[in-house]
Amino acid sequence: MSYVMSTVVRDVLTRHNGVHLDGKAIPGSSPQLSVIINPSSSKTLCEIHYGNAADVDRAAQSARQAFDDGRWRLKAPAEKSRILLRVAELMEAHADELAELEMLDAGKLHRSAREAEVPFAAECFRYHAGWCTKIEGSTKQMSLAPMGSFHVYTQREPIGVVGLIVPSNGPLVQASWKLAPALAAGCCCVIKPDEKTPLSTLRLAELMTEAGIPDGVVNLVTGSGTEVGAAMVSHPAIAKISFTGSTDTGKSIGNVALRDMKKLTLELGGKSPVIILRDANLEQAIPGAAEAIFSNAGQICVAGSRLYVEAPVYQEVIEGIISYAENLVVGPAHEAASTMGPLISETHLASVLRAVTSAREQGAKVATGGKPLHEGAGYFMTPTVIQDVQASMPLVQEEIFGPVLAVSKITDLQEGLSLGNDSQFGLAASIWTENLSKAHQFANAIRAGLVWINCHGIPDMAVPFGGYKQSGWGRENGYEGLLGFTELKSVVCKL
Ligand code: NAD
Repeated sequence: MSYVMSTVVRDVLTRHNGVHLDGKAIPGSSPQLSVIINPSSSKTLCEIHYGNAADVDRAAQSARQAFDDGRWRLKAPAEKSRILLRVAELMEAHADELAELEMLDAGKLHRSAREAEVPFAAECFRYHAGWCTKIEGSTKQMSLAPMGSFHVYTQREPIGVVGLIVPSNGPLVQASWKLAPALAAGCCCVIKPDEKTPLSTLRLAELMTEAGIPDGVVNLVTGSGTEVGAAMVSHPAIAKISFTGSTDTGKSIGNVALRDMKKLTLELGGKSPVIILRDANLEQAIPGAAEAIFSNAGQICVAGSRLYVEAPVYQEVIEGIISYAENLVVGPAHEAASTMGPLISETHLASVLRAVTSAREQGAKVATGGKPLHEGAGYFMTPTVIQDVQASMPLVQEEIFGPVLAVSKITDLQEGLSLGNDSQFGLAASIWTENLSKAHQFANAIRAGLVWINCHGIPDMAVPFGGYKQSGWGRENGYEGLLGFTELKSVVCKL
């Protein structure tokens, strides 16, 4: 595909803006320009003035004022709903440029960004627009008082100003998963995209203003986690942090947030097991398990990075997965022929390659892949399948966040369950089998927040998303996710 940059995108790239404050895109206060890199080429895409702690303060105060004066919170629910629907419409109308931006700094394959991520993000606003008019409390009956002597009810209220911190692997979708429910609940927001991938969210903030989100209700500050992210976590005007990112960062945010009892939702890392039983439909299970790890070059929190295969079909499955991996076309995100794009940065590529090297040194067998590609031009590596792994190896226990699959043979479902549960993480899991009873035994016994049967990694904003164990706190999506942006008040009236 010959790639010609659109005018709107060129305009976004030349403005140097790194902050969206009170409805306007402006340069952030960091004096130096910071470079945004295209991971498909390692070349500079643009330079922006990131925000800094002073910008976070301005953004939080602006959001606090917007919250207090009720310009969003007190709007009729139907009016909020109409505005969120308008955001979805504008995202669809601008889908080409949003997809282009997502492709450029996040290295998303163009087809995936245009056909999946952007429409999905727009649908997220449409879905949550429906919730604006359906947030309810309930009436209660006191247990110790005579009937009719009290009128008791609960109501849901927006939690206040929320700080939304987003990772690099799905910038637009992750931002939408946070902004849409926060706004549906009536909150005002300060959002920080990952410093490497701010472009689509900067553009989304402009579209939100155009859609009628009042100024100050959504403010955006770009910049590093250690400066801008940390300033958000400790800012007194921010009542809640909704964070998606690595478990280590989540823990450090948790420690700080605890100091003033900020509310927290943490969507963290994973090491999700995929189990293929002997009776599985292998025509579906083999590509399904391969896509579970190689989509977005393995940079997906729910990536199926541990594969457990029942012995009778082990050989056929491993050969199928190796063949799938070797047929992937690893290349720039803008090339139509590419079926796997780059890793997000040079540092990240080096860390994934290091994990493969140390697994090899510990006795694991690299069946295919494990090598850098196109050295010097983009952060590419070959899709990697590793056999002969031990459950205790870092390759099996730690999140690598790259296209690296650890495969093990199991004798039965029970062994698959015990190995599957042998992890500090508990984000997601899948099983491939035609046996309904075993599928549900697995769903019941696996310690994970998301379980897929005969599929993997299918997200939907109606379905709660989040992890057990060190994969997080709380849920995003669905009514449960929306409730995370509310406080519950009980009102007791003596009659
Ligand atoms: P990361 O933790 O390095 O960064 C995530 C965000 O946190 C970025 O915006 C970063 O700037 C910010 N940040 C970093 N340090 C901070 C600090 N001290 N205080 C406040 N903010 C800080 O994660 P990443 O490498 O961008 O993303 C990959 C990780 O995200 C993986 O572990 C992946 O599993 C996880 N993830 C989880 C989900 C989920 O829903 N569970 C979804 C996507 C990604």
